[in-house]
Amino acid sequence: MVLPTQTDISSLIKRYDALFFDSFGVLVDGVDAIPGTVELINRMNEADVNYFVVTNDASVSLVKRVAKLKSQGFEIPIERIVNSGSLIAGYVEAHYLQGKPTLVLGTQDSKDYAIEAGVRLAEPNDPENEPDAVIVGDNRPYDWEPMLELLLGLLSRRFVQHNPVRLVLPNPDFIFPNGPGAFGFGAAAFVDLLEQALVRLHGTHDELIASKLGKPYSPIFKEAIRRAGTSNAVMIGDQLETDILGANTAGIDSAVVTTGINRRKSPEDFEELAEELTPRYILASLV
Ligand SMILES: [Mg+2]
Repeated sequence: MVLPTQTDISSLIKRYDALFFDSFGVLVDGVDAIPGTVELINRMNEADVNYFVVTNDASVSLVKRVAKLKSQGFEIPIERIVNSGSLIAGYVEAHYLQGKPTLVLGTQDSKDYAIEAGVRLAEPNDPENEPDAVIVGDNRPYDWEPMLELLLGLLSRRFVQHNPVRLVLPNPDFIFPNGPGAFGFGAAAFVDLLEQALVRLHGTHDELIASKLGKPYSPIFKEAIRRAGTSNAVMIGDQLETDILGANTAGIDSAVVTTGINRRKSPEDFEELAEELTPRYILASLV
């Protein structure tokens, strides 16, 4: 068992050709910039460091995300943000869904990602225009019990007819921080219920499981590596189950910060942990 080693941000900038930063818990605490991070981004901009913000968000457009980061003090160019929403285009193209009726659940921005990807929007209950794909972009704004029952009926029937509906989950976050001591259920929680119900009805089949695009799954890491032009990269994150597991699975190095959800601070704290959840480094601060 190899335990993580302590390092600092300057060493990582020197050692790697690209740095990937998680957003929530690393750069921002949900409301404000985490102390020192604005200065770090400024320094990296000036020194032309090859960095990217790699985030699971699929509910806000890239333009709005850049504006929000700017309001928090960050000057981050739009091309340096890799989010789950922008992965929808690659999925749609790879699975020939352009022009196909697609039900998109989520915010208007979630729908816009899918429209830009070339799908034709379908409504939940329209037999004339039944969806070939369902993209669950966000937990809002649905009344989930009737929506899940509708989806269960649709996906179950189409599976039996050997014409399965593709189920896509851009952001696999199960829960998210929602103010001090409060949490919200992410879109993944609802998709998980749907998958469990489908498996109970039909057994385990790949067609009944959603394609997940964000961390810890591979599509977002592949896209970040493609954009960076190198796999000599390190993922800097606060969640072992998403940032660190995903980086380890993608074959890149990882560093855990102690400003977000992760509470393990010393190498010994990682002793009992599974290898795939263990980062290469501990980064006590980004300053
Ligand atoms: Mg995070």
